[in-house]
Amino acid sequence: MIPKVAVLPVLIAPDPRLKVKAKPVARVDAELRRLMDDMLETMYLAPGIGLAAPQIGRAERVIVVDVSREGEEKQAYRMANPEILWQSDSLATYNEGCLSLPEHYADVTRPAEIRVRYLDHENEIRTLEASGLLATVIQHEMDHLEGVLFVDHISPLKRNIILRKLQKSKRQKAAEPV
Ligand SMILES: [Zn+2]
Repeated sequence: MIPKVAVLPVLIAPDPRLKVKAKPVARVDAELRRLMDDMLETMYLAPGIGLAAPQIGRAERVIVVDVSREGEEKQAYRMANPEILWQSDSLATYNEGCLSLPEHYADVTRPAEIRVRYLDHENEIRTLEASGLLATVIQHEMDHLEGVLFVDHISPLKRNIILRKLQKSKRQKAAEPV
């Protein structure tokens, strides 16, 4: 029997579960593979180009990324225990967003190229050289594993404005009659 993939609720900042350091996984087994597929499905539906396990309330070092454009062939990366082996001195700036900070964006500067080692969905060790948007998204998702959000890379003033707005819209949602 093929299990159906599930769409998972994504935590919205500010939330203490987005600020914890995620734990390494022992190995990628069937349960974790299923989690990776559910995370991908959740990401595609949102739609988004990356998702980290802490964003769905699982404090484990698992991320999924797919930066292919609409109409292009999908290129999904499922990564457990990702580690940056090398990063370039050259930097790149992208206007970043996050499924946990909906409708907010800010320019974030990061190393332009990286080499990352990870366990794939079949528990195989892989190494990937990434540049451009893919490099940025992998670094953004890996930040989530340290409890770091993209707003932690911008000025405290801008960060607080965004987090206050998110908090306010959460309160409004909570107050709405069901
Ligand atoms: Zn994010």
